[in-house]
Amino acid sequence: MNKDTYRSRNGGSWVNRVYGALRAQHGPQAWWPAEGRFEIMVGAILTQNTAWSNVEKAIANLKAAGMLDAGAILQAPDDELAQLIRPSGYFRIKARRLRKFCEWYTGLREYRNLRYWSTAKLRHALLGVYGVGPETADDILLYAFNRPVFVIDAYTRRIFARLGLIGGAEPYDEIRAEFERELGRQPGRMGEYHALIVQHGKLVCRPEPRCGACDLRAMCRFYKARRHSR
Ligand code: SF4
Repeated sequence: MNKDTYRSRNGGSWVNRVYGALRAQHGPQAWWPAEGRFEIMVGAILTQNTAWSNVEKAIANLKAAGMLDAGAILQAPDDELAQLIRPSGYFRIKARRLRKFCEWYTGLREYRNLRYWSTAKLRHALLGVYGVGPETADDILLYAFNRPVFVIDAYTRRIFARLGLIGGAEPYDEIRAEFERELGRQPGRMGEYHALIVQHGKLVCRPEPRCGACDLRAMCRFYKARRHSR
């Protein structure tokens, strides 16, 4: 992490400057797209290694079958559950992950009990659930439990590495800690920021970046280097 670059310059942090530019470019995102907490948790598990449009189809199937419920998922036969979430890809692995998550969730009396846990305790417990890695755990903490944690994904690494604010290969928790230090305990802002990063990574700072359409150009090391090399 390039801390000298990352931290405040001229009284304003780059984390917040990037947030302001992304918000101006893309507008409010109002994430996570779901009707309830449990749907957010299911979506966080199903979105691993797939596009969100595929997750939407899988969740629609679960809803239509009356199975967007931890108890119903646990009672469903393996094959039925796998077929319902098939659009999300890796469906047999994800069916197992979903079932293991539901065992954990119902075993701890769900949100009505877990909401009293500290963020550190909850994060540690989530990371102990089969198939739940840091990004999934933080999606659940931030969007389902409204806790002040920042989600680091491939879009975050790509955009902020191109901006010159991180190397891009740092450990997950190192980058997360820097964002959380800059943003403070503001889950609403953190959720909006992550959504904006995803939007920007999908539409603008793609693998082949569309720098001409990017409002971050003035602060982007990648853009400046490419322009000077021409
Ligand atoms: S200027 Fe280009 S490389 Fe830099 S953040 Fe924007 S799209 Fe990505």
